[in-house]
Amino acid sequence: MAVRNEEPHDGGQKKKVTFKPTPLMSTYLVAFVVGELDYVEDTTNYRLPVRVYATPGKAHKGKFAAEYGAKTLTYFEKIFGIDVPVEKIDLIGIPDFAIGAMENWGLITFRDAALLYDAETCSLSQKQHCAEIVMHELAHQWFGNLVTMDWWEGLWLKEGFATWMSYLAMDHFFPQWNIWEGFYTANVVRALDLDCLRSSHPIEVNVRTAKELPQIFDAISYSKGGSVLRMISDYLGLDVFLKGVSKYLKDHAYGCTVTTDLWDALASTSGKDVVSIMTTWTKKVGYPYVKVENGDGETKVTQHRFLSSNDVTPEEDTLYPVLLELLDASTGKIDKSLELRDRTSTIKTPFVFKLNAHQVGTYRTLYPSALVALLVDSVHLSSFDRAGLVDDMTAFSSCGLAPTTDLLKLLSSIKGNDSLIVWEMIAGAFGELDALLRFADKSTLVKLRKLRLFVLSAAPFDLTSWPEDEDEIVQQVKALLFAFAVSSEHPAVTGYAKGLFDSYIETPTTRINPNIMATVFKAGVAKGGEAEWLQLLNIAKTSKDSVIPNKAFSALGETPLAELKLKTLQLTLDGSVRNQDFLYPVTGVVSSAEGVRIYWDWFTANWTEIVAFLPPNGIGNILPRAVGLRFTSADDKKKCEEFYKERKEDAFARSLDQAFELVTTRIEWDQVEIESFLSAI
Ligand SMILES: [Zn+2]
Repeated sequence: MAVRNEEPHDGGQKKKVTFKPTPLMSTYLVAFVVGELDYVEDTTNYRLPVRVYATPGKAHKGKFAAEYGAKTLTYFEKIFGIDVPVEKIDLIGIPDFAIGAMENWGLITFRDAALLYDAETCSLSQKQHCAEIVMHELAHQWFGNLVTMDWWEGLWLKEGFATWMSYLAMDHFFPQWNIWEGFYTANVVRALDLDCLRSSHPIEVNVRTAKELPQIFDAISYSKGGSVLRMISDYLGLDVFLKGVSKYLKDHAYGCTVTTDLWDALASTSGKDVVSIMTTWTKKVGYPYVKVENGDGETKVTQHRFLSSNDVTPEEDTLYPVLLELLDASTGKIDKSLELRDRTSTIKTPFVFKLNAHQVGTYRTLYPSALVALLVDSVHLSSFDRAGLVDDMTAFSSCGLAPTTDLLKLLSSIKGNDSLIVWEMIAGAFGELDALLRFADKSTLVKLRKLRLFVLSAAPFDLTSWPEDEDEIVQQVKALLFAFAVSSEHPAVTGYAKGLFDSYIETPTTRINPNIMATVFKAGVAKGGEAEWLQLLNIAKTSKDSVIPNKAFSALGETPLAELKLKTLQLTLDGSVRNQDFLYPVTGVVSSAEGVRIYWDWFTANWTEIVAFLPPNGIGNILPRAVGLRFTSADDKKKCEEFYKERKEDAFARSLDQAFELVTTRIEWDQVEIESFLSAI
C-alpha cells in the first residue's frame, strides 16, 4: 500500500514507516519486498506514478514496462469503468522467482528476465512477452483482486480473463503486431494440444489437496479459459461482451464469484442465452472435432469428442454446443448463425467452404481430402484459416483420423506464404514429425530433411540478409524460418549463422540481430567442437544481461559431442543455473535421439537431487516437461513407467499421465505410411 508517513525512530538510527490501510482483499494478495532496489517511473500515462523496481544497475531496462503499464491501467479503467482502488502501482523484477509473475495488489512481482526489456538483446517475441505479462498482471488488479474466485475451480475466471485481456490491450497499443494471431498459436493451439488427452481436466476442476494445485495453473485454466472467452466475445460482439464484463466487476466488487455469475452478467447485457452455450465448455473436459461429409449443396456435419488416442467411449462422447461459423471460400462471407448441438446435422453449404472461420471456436474440423485441396487455393482464407487447416490436419494424422500423406501433401502445397502463424503451424507439424521419427533410421531422416528443405524453399524471404531498418514483423517471420532452416541444416543459412557466431566469439561487441541470436548460438555449437562449447559456456556464465545467459544455456546441448551433452546436463545441478531455469540446458540436449538417451540415464541416476533442487511450486510443471518422455517405442515407454511406478506423487501425477499419453500417440502413429511417402519424394 502507499506510504502514509515516514518519521525517524529509535533516536534517528531507524525509520518508522506507516502505510495506508489495504482495501478489502484476499490474503493471497499480500506481499512485502525488502531489498536494495533502483526504480524508473512513468508519471505521464496514468493518474498515479507507475514504478518499475529492479536490483541495482538494471532499472533502466524497466522503462518499456513502466510506460505500457501506465497506459494499460488508463485503458483498463476506461473500459471497465472502475478505478483501481489502491494508491500506488509498483512492478518489481526479482532475479530468483519460480513463476513468471504474481499480481499482489499494488506490488506486482515478476521474474526480472520477463519484466526488463532491452532492445539490444531482446527479440520481438520477448518484447511481446514483456508486454503480455505486464498487461496480464494488471488485468488481475480487477480479475482476481477486486473480484475473487469463490474456490480454486474458479481459477480460470482470473487466469483465463487475464490471458484474454492482455491480448486485447496489446492489440490496442500495438495493432501492427497482429497479436490475435499470436493468441491462436500461444493459447488456442496449446489448449487443443493438451485437451485432446484423456488425462486433461475441465476448465472448472475440483482441487482436493494443496499439492494438486500447481498443476492446474496450466494450459487449460489459462489458454482454454482465454480461448472460450475469445469464442463468446466474438459471438456476442466485443462491445456487448465488455459491457457485460464491466457489469460483472461492478456487481461483485470486493466479493467472490462462481462462473455462472459471469454468464449471468453477459446474458443480461446481450439478451442471449449464454449459459446454454458456455456451460459445457467450462464444465466438461475436452472438445469436439466436426466431421464434414459433402453432398450436392448439402453437407452432413457430425461431432465427436477428439481424443489423441482416437478411442472415445460412448460415455466420454460429450455433445458440445458448436458455433459453426461457415466461411464461403468463394466470397469470403461468414455465416455466424449456424450451430451444431446434436450429434449430426445437415446444413446448406456453398461449393467451397470452411467451418470455424478465423479459428474462433475451440474445436477441430475434419474435411474430405478433395475439399482441403480446393481450400488451399482460396484467396478468401485468412492466416488463421490456413494455419488452422495445417494444425487440424497434423492432429488428425497423429491419431489416424486422416492419412499422414494428406498432411505431407498439404505441407508441400503451401506456396509463397509470408504469414507468421501459417509458418508456425508448418514448423509445428514438422516438430511433431521430428518427435515421431527421432529414432528412425538415417535414410528416413535424410528424406525428412529433404522435405523440410523443399517446403522451406517456398518461403519468400532471404534468410541471409538482416537489414537494420527491416519491418519488425517481417523480421519475426524470418527469425522463425531462420530457426527452421538451421534445424533443417540448410547449408547456406547454417553457414551464415555459424559465421555470425564466430564473429561474435571473436569480438563480443559484434551486434547479432536479437531475433536470431538464440539460433546463431545453436548453430555455432552444433557445427562446432569443444572450443565453441567452452566459449559459449563462458558467455552463459559471465554475461550480465537478463536474457543472453538463457539463450546460451539453451544452445549448449546442441553440441554433437556426447560427453559435452552430459556436461551440459550437469550444469543444472552444479550451481550454474537457477532452479527456475532448470529446463534451459536440458532443451538442447533432448533435441536428438542420442541426447534423449543420455538425458534419461542422467535423469534417472540423479532423480533425488533433481527433485530436491526444483522449486517446490514448480515441480508439477517443470518436472513432467523434464521427464524426457521423448521416446517413441513401447519398450522405452515401459522402461519409463517402471521408473515412475514407485515415484509418482500428487504434485506431478496429472502432468505425468499427460506426458505418457503423448508417448502413446507417437507409438501408435503409422510410421510405415510416412516412410513410404518420404521414399517417394
Ligand atoms: Zn495470472
